[in-house]
Amino acid sequence: MIKLQTFLKITDKELHDVATAQWNCLNVRNKSGKKEYRGSSLIKKVEAAKLEISQPAYQDKYKEAGKRHQKFIEYLSDEKNLRELIIAKPAELKARADKIFNILNHDDIYTSSKGVDSQTEFGKFLIEKIFDYSAYRSGAPFIKIYLTQLKLKSLTCPYCNFVPLEMTAWKDVQGDKQKAYLDLDHFYSKCRFPFFALSFYNLIPCCHYCNATAKGTKLFDVDSHIHPYHQDFDDHYIFDFDLDFWKSDGEAKVNLNTKKGGRPDKLAHDLSLHPRLTNDLKETVNLVAGYHKYANAQITAREKEILFDLIGATVPFKKCEILGYQKGKLNRDVLKSIDAFGILNIA
Ligand SMILES: [Zn+2]
Repeated sequence: MIKLQTFLKITDKELHDVATAQWNCLNVRNKSGKKEYRGSSLIKKVEAAKLEISQPAYQDKYKEAGKRHQKFIEYLSDEKNLRELIIAKPAELKARADKIFNILNHDDIYTSSKGVDSQTEFGKFLIEKIFDYSAYRSGAPFIKIYLTQLKLKSLTCPYCNFVPLEMTAWKDVQGDKQKAYLDLDHFYSKCRFPFFALSFYNLIPCCHYCNATAKGTKLFDVDSHIHPYHQDFDDHYIFDFDLDFWKSDGEAKVNLNTKKGGRPDKLAHDLSLHPRLTNDLKETVNLVAGYHKYANAQITAREKEILFDLIGATVPFKKCEILGYQKGKLNRDVLKSIDAFGILNIA
């Protein structure tokens, strides 16, 4: 609901340093000797894949497509191209993909039937032999990036602002333990864009409900969906509490509207954010009722103190704190919209 770097209080430059750390984690060199890259490094994996694809048996099997596969692996063999795939910023990902699809045909990687995508053998080859997300997710680079570098802790999912995410480290008798209570969503789908499977800005830390239940196989694109490292949901959307509806009916209703000048976006719709966040409005109603109980033109210092205690525990007064509170944006927008006396001074 706000950019992750805003909540993490890091600059775009510092965030990009983390993307570079991701590249370095994926390409560790041996400690001794000539300091060659390890066999598990991305660079070495590309070398091995190049050898495999250049074999006559492979080329005989895939014919024209085999030549395209080979050309693509050669493209990856240029360390600069491979590095830029891993650290490309959100707005650059599409141009990178366009470049790759000048070398490969889409059906070299996936086929689509009745809205369901399937990976081709070459698509699977890229994921299994080079851009191995499963190994990354269960390995040391993942922990280093999200626990040590980004220090993801005490925040809610940047998509829904509802489900808590946590990276936890502790010690027990067996030694150091780390556990991540979060998913990484592939913003650009792993099936269609396997070469982005390890790209830092294509991996969005989020909750399992957003990733698996709400998004599933829906296709996201930086031009049509707000990307949590690139754009700020809070700049484009506003939640409004319908006071008239509440007064007449006794029920609460919160609308989600596009702000003036807000960009066209499909994220809110595709993740069902409005129905999910407004399904249970008890807490919001209590906040609104609390405001109306204490707020008036002649509010006393004591009443103000009570009101701030009531609201401060569940509502972020500062925009940069939104992800630290469940439904932080919704409750903040609602209170801002009903604060007729300007007492709360929510910026
Ligand atoms: Zn979520």
